[in-house]
Amino acid sequence: MSTPTQAPITFDLKPSAHPLSTAEREARLVNPGFGRIFTDHMVTIRWTEGRGWHDAQLQPYAPIEIDPANMTLHYGQAIFEGLKAYRQTDGSIATFRPEANAERFQASARRLAMPELPVETFVEAVELLVQQEQNWVPNEPEQSLYLRPFMFATEVGLGVRPSNSYLFMLIASPAGAYFPGGVKPVSVWLSEDYVRAAPGGTGAAKCAGNYAASLVAQAEAAAKGCDQVVWLDAAEHRWVEEMGGMNLYFVFGEGKDAKIVTPALSGALLPGITRASLLQLASDLGYAVEERKISTEEWKQGNADGTLTEVFACGTAAVITPVGSVKSQGGDWTVGAGEPGPVTMELRRALLAIQGGQAPDTHGWLHKIV
Ligand SMILES: *Cc1c(COP(=O)(O)O)cnc(C)c1O
Repeated sequence: MSTPTQAPITFDLKPSAHPLSTAEREARLVNPGFGRIFTDHMVTIRWTEGRGWHDAQLQPYAPIEIDPANMTLHYGQAIFEGLKAYRQTDGSIATFRPEANAERFQASARRLAMPELPVETFVEAVELLVQQEQNWVPNEPEQSLYLRPFMFATEVGLGVRPSNSYLFMLIASPAGAYFPGGVKPVSVWLSEDYVRAAPGGTGAAKCAGNYAASLVAQAEAAAKGCDQVVWLDAAEHRWVEEMGGMNLYFVFGEGKDAKIVTPALSGALLPGITRASLLQLASDLGYAVEERKISTEEWKQGNADGTLTEVFACGTAAVITPVGSVKSQGGDWTVGAGEPGPVTMELRRALLAIQGGQAPDTHGWLHKIV
């Protein structure tokens, strides 16, 4: 949805007169968990038909009022992103590939018939909020300030069509280490009854509805005693797609001869930025990498005959999570020794070192904020 009349988007800075005191903020940063506490400010930008993007503001974090006939509540035009600001070893702050999140946000918007926020406006919103909230970026290793950009319909009415107005928002939430007690493998349930995404559907868009549709399968996985659900393709229930809200990787062989395989993007998979970064990083580290289809039979057989040595999932929130065991209607099995594998842990350390500024950023992935 291009807006020919789009005026330059300039931000109005309205910082809070009552941010939390240093003592209160530091108390909240002791054990932040994930997505439980929010910083003092947020960014909002409005879009209306004819006028395009306008009224960009950095303002105090506050609730919003929603009309009961707000279109999002009924028809679900809602998309989001997730990225992090990392404290660097030299005390500065950087985000990781925010332009990639901005581009994916545009792709999600197109799929849901929503307007595209310009990449530079998305990145500027991230810069402004992180600059404002720099004291909220934790200093401890593996902690970060999680950034949640999102957009939803604001038109009031029950007619089924794209809304004529939208609100973009950006909020921030300090995040603790995903594995405070050390990296632990997860158990997974292969979901053969529920699917996450189908060809032509919204699987490649980061939209709220995908998550709503996943919750019952995640509950089924939990009822089977598993930590996470693994999604299979919609047509044959045979090809491995993703794990919960993360992409999957398979390691065949060992040592420097290991080959690292991830399911090819099919339109049903979410194109993860961690997934894309690991393809590059694994290849930098000398591993052979491949994007292709992987079936549940190949997974089971590979673990049985030892050719498939490690499996892990990846995404912004947890970076890399090893998969230790699998349960399915067709049987249960262990992945390797059921412990985090050496290639998994090497890639995890390598990516965290780039994000934290301890390793050279040879691909220009870090976006310095302050
Ligand atoms: C966000 C998301 C991912 C991971 O994407 P990253 O950019 O690596 O954080 C993977 N799968 C799904 C379904 C997602 O929503």
